[in-house]
Parts: sequence; C-alpha cells; structure tokens
Amino acid sequence: MAISSTLSIASPSGKTLTVPTGLFIDNAFVPSVTGDTLETINPATGASLGHVSAGSAEDVDLAVSAARTAYNTVWGRNSTPSQRAECLFKLASLLEEHIVELSELESLDNGKPRWIAETMDIADTAGCFRYYAGLADKIEGKTIEQKEGEKLAFTRLEPLGVCGQIIPWNYPIGMLGWKVAPALAAGNCVVLKPAEQTPLTALKIAELAVEAGLPKGVFNVVNGLGPVVGDAITGHMDVDKVAFTGSTAIGKRVMQRAAQSNLKKVTLELGGKSPVVVFDDADIDQAVNWVALGILFNQGQDCTAGSRLFVQEGIYDKFLPKLVAAFKAHTIGDPFDSQTFQGPQITQRHQQRILDYIESGKAEGAKVEIGGGAWTEGTGDFAKGFYVQPTIFSGCKRGMKIVDEEIFGPVLAVASFKDEAEAIKLANDTSYGLGAGVFSSNANTCMRVSGAIQAGTVWVNNYVVVSNAVPFGGFKSSGIGRELGVDAIKEYTQVKSVHWNFGEMLDWPLTG
Ligand code: NAD
Repeated sequence: MAISSTLSIASPSGKTLTVPTGLFIDNAFVPSVTGDTLETINPATGASLGHVSAGSAEDVDLAVSAARTAYNTVWGRNSTPSQRAECLFKLASLLEEHIVELSELESLDNGKPRWIAETMDIADTAGCFRYYAGLADKIEGKTIEQKEGEKLAFTRLEPLGVCGQIIPWNYPIGMLGWKVAPALAAGNCVVLKPAEQTPLTALKIAELAVEAGLPKGVFNVVNGLGPVVGDAITGHMDVDKVAFTGSTAIGKRVMQRAAQSNLKKVTLELGGKSPVVVFDDADIDQAVNWVALGILFNQGQDCTAGSRLFVQEGIYDKFLPKLVAAFKAHTIGDPFDSQTFQGPQITQRHQQRILDYIESGKAEGAKVEIGGGAWTEGTGDFAKGFYVQPTIFSGCKRGMKIVDEEIFGPVLAVASFKDEAEAIKLANDTSYGLGAGVFSSNANTCMRVSGAIQAGTVWVNNYVVVSNAVPFGGFKSSGIGRELGVDAIKEYTQVKSVHWNFGEMLDWPLTG
C-alpha cells in the first residue's frame, strides 16, 4: 500500500501532529523495500491513526550496513566521548522542547494519559539522555600492576559495534531512552525496532536526532513486525548485540537466534509477577496508596506491576476495604483529560486477554472485591476504547492462573500471611524475579525481607518508581543483564586487556 511520507494526526488538543512514516536509515526517512505498511490504532477510541512503513529483512540489512559504516567512520573509535555527549545533551534538550507534542503522540498511540506521558515518560527520558551524556566521558578502564619497571597491564572499555534493540509498546519513549542512550554514549551504533502497536514516537525522535547532530547511520529505526524485523535483527550476522524488552516467550527465542547466528551478546528484560508484602506494623494508608499505584500505573502494563499482594493477618480486614476504596476513587477515561489516571489497554486483543484472565480467576474460586470486567462507562468515541475495570481478587492461591501468570493489566491477586517466613516463601514462589515491595515500619524487618526476596529490584515503603541512576533488571526468568545506572554502560562495552612489556627480555629457546 502506498502511503504519504508524512502522517498528519488531528490531536484532541486542536493541534495537527505530523510524523514521518518511513523507516529511518542513514538519517533519511525511506519507504520499506517491499512497500509494506502497518496501521496504528488509538486504543482510547479504536480509531486508526494511520499507516507507517513496515520493514523486512532487506531493510534490516540496509540499516545494519548504515550502522556499521557509521561505526567504522564517524562513531565508535572515530568519535570522542565529548562529541557523543554533546549530541546526547542536545537530544535531551530537544525532547524537552517538544515535550507537549511528543506527549500527545505517545498518548494517542499508546493510550496512556497525556499528562503522565509528559511529566513521567518524556521528562524521565530527557533525564536518561542527560545522565548517559554525562557518563560518556567517564567510561574508564583500570591499570593492573604486574612487575615494577618491567610490565604493566591495563583494561579499556570498548564499544561493541552495532546493537539491535527491540522494544515493547508499554513505554515506547521510555524504553527507547533506556536502550539508545547508554548504547550511543558508549560509542555503539543502533538499529532500533519499536513495537508494531506503537511506531510513532520513535520516528519523531529520529527527526530530533538529526537536529541534535547525530551523524548519518548512528541511530536507525526499522518499524515492522516482530517475526519479520525482530527475527532479522536477532539472527543478523553483523549485529554484535541484541537488547530486548518484552515477553518471556520471545525473550527465549531472541536468545536462541543470537546463539545460532553469530553468538551476539544478549540482554533481556522480560516479564514479572511481582510480590508486594505488607506487614502488620506498616503505615496502612501509605501502603494502600503505593500498592494501588504499583498495580494500576500504566494500566497495569508494567513489567514490575505489583500483581501479587500479601497482607499480614493482623491488618488484613482493615487493609482490604481501604484498598478497594482506593481503586474505586481512581479515575478512568479520556487520556487527554488531566483528571484521568487510567487509560485503555494497548489493543483490543490485549484487553480480551486480560478479561479472559479475570474470568479464569472467577472460575478458579477467587473472590472479586471490585471490578471484574470491561470498563464500559466511556461515552462518545471512548465507548469503543479498550478499557478494563481495575480489579481486585481475594482468596488467591498458587495454581490459579491469575496468581501464576503475568496478566499485564490492572488486576491484583490478594492473599494473607501469618509471619515473615511465610511471606518470604509466598513472595519467592514464582519463576519470575523482577520487582518486589516490602512495607513495614521496622527497619530490621525491611532489611531482612528485602534481602531474602529474589528480585532485581526491591522497593521498601514505596513502589514502581525508578531512577535513571539505579540499575534495573531481573533475577530468575525475568531477564539477563541490567539497564540504567552505570551498570548499563557495562552491557554496551567489552573489556580489552592490554599486557604491556617495557623491560622483560625473552631468551630463546626456552629450556627447563
Ligand atoms: P512481545 O514480546 O511479542 O513484543 C515485544 C517486542 O518484541 C515487540 O517489539 C515485538 O515486535 C518484538 N517481537 C515479537 N516477536 C519477535 C521475534 N520473533 N523476534 C524478535 N522480536 C520480536 O510482547 P507482546 O505480544 O506485545 O505482549 C505479550 C506479553 O508480553 C504482554 O502481555 C506482557 O505479559 C509481556 N510484555 C512484557 C513487557 C515488559 O516490559 N517486560 C513489555 C511488553 C509485553
């Protein structure tokens, strides 16, 4: 299908938002080789936002080749850390200059409330680019003493080369920042594949990347389907690393293809079924607020969503009604309304998947405390949106699908526990290990339990809020490697050891 090179979208704010539709290769927007396109839908209304180009394996070849050329000529060892930092600082400022326009696009494409996209997703992403711009000239090796006057060894942290980055739809701009910023700061070039449900904002950011001065080929965007563009990246013989965020099933496939092709490096950020443990001595009102935020933020479409809640028996009867009241009080509806906290789920298919989980919870004997179906109070265009009621199930136990599987929606499974040992056992009874929460006013309890829970991130007396400076990643089946913080730089560099001889003479032949 032939499409125009620019998409014009009438925003509810009255603005006309324009987005290039092509693939972004070598700093130019180009149609895909096959002419294929994909359609993107506004989840709040079910209406089409338009079509963008969808790539094929051939387009991935072109993008990888552009990235390789850039790496060998203008980036990597042919750039200085301060040059790279300057581009990233500029890009951070450009994100801020365009924050309203980007937030409108992100909200239309993903369904998240516009004010949250502005104040959290994009503001944090600008911060992420700034954080890694600041780190670009602080990537250091070390010297390792060998023999005084004769030998010294030192290490250098060198970039990997061309990185393929495959990101999901739940935080389209946020995940772009987490992946692209550290990769470029460390000197790598990037081929990014956004999720097919949310292709728009990466294209807008590509426009800004040119303005920020990123040389041709350093950053490329190939929209398209996972099994087509994603597979072409993970199996590519000239891609040095693949960084993936998404489902566990696809994460396994990514790793297999990486191994079967050129053994490219892999980092994976996968799902979770994160436990939140509230002890009798917690500040109940605060714990209620954080628990609600932890499962309802981003429509529950968060890999660290606190989806299993364990409340100690002494406060259970008091806690649950307060939590139900908190769910009742929160606002659902038009993502462009600044009073809205919960928007629609990403697609009708995903909405149905969540509703199926809710039905399974009912069938398996859990009790619905609030919610339990689709949210149908939307009027006008929003009557066709993909909304789900915030739902709490009590009486949950292992063996129920709503307890064992990641739902990725606003659905909370609640159970009570007797003592600390039981809480830890319940919390760890999952194959995942991404996030966890502990609420108690006893510092010793918090320290013991946060140590015993097997998760890459434990929030104590808060939940779900991350920082660009703090590493993020999974234990167990939740992933491999770390994003954010200085740790992410390690994932985008490789250590070279240099043994330097300036004194030792070798006699030949060697004899015993
Ligand atoms: P997904 O794993 O299919 O998609 C994530 C990304 O992987 C997208 O860019 C997609 O195009 C790409 N992809 C798909 N198939 C691929 C392949 N064969 N090779 C390479 N890349 C491929 O996730 P989904 O279907 O959009 O969502 C399903 C479930 O995954 C969700 O319900 C949720 O449980 C989980 N999920 C987790 C996260 C997270 O942040 N960890 C994000 C999105 C989805």
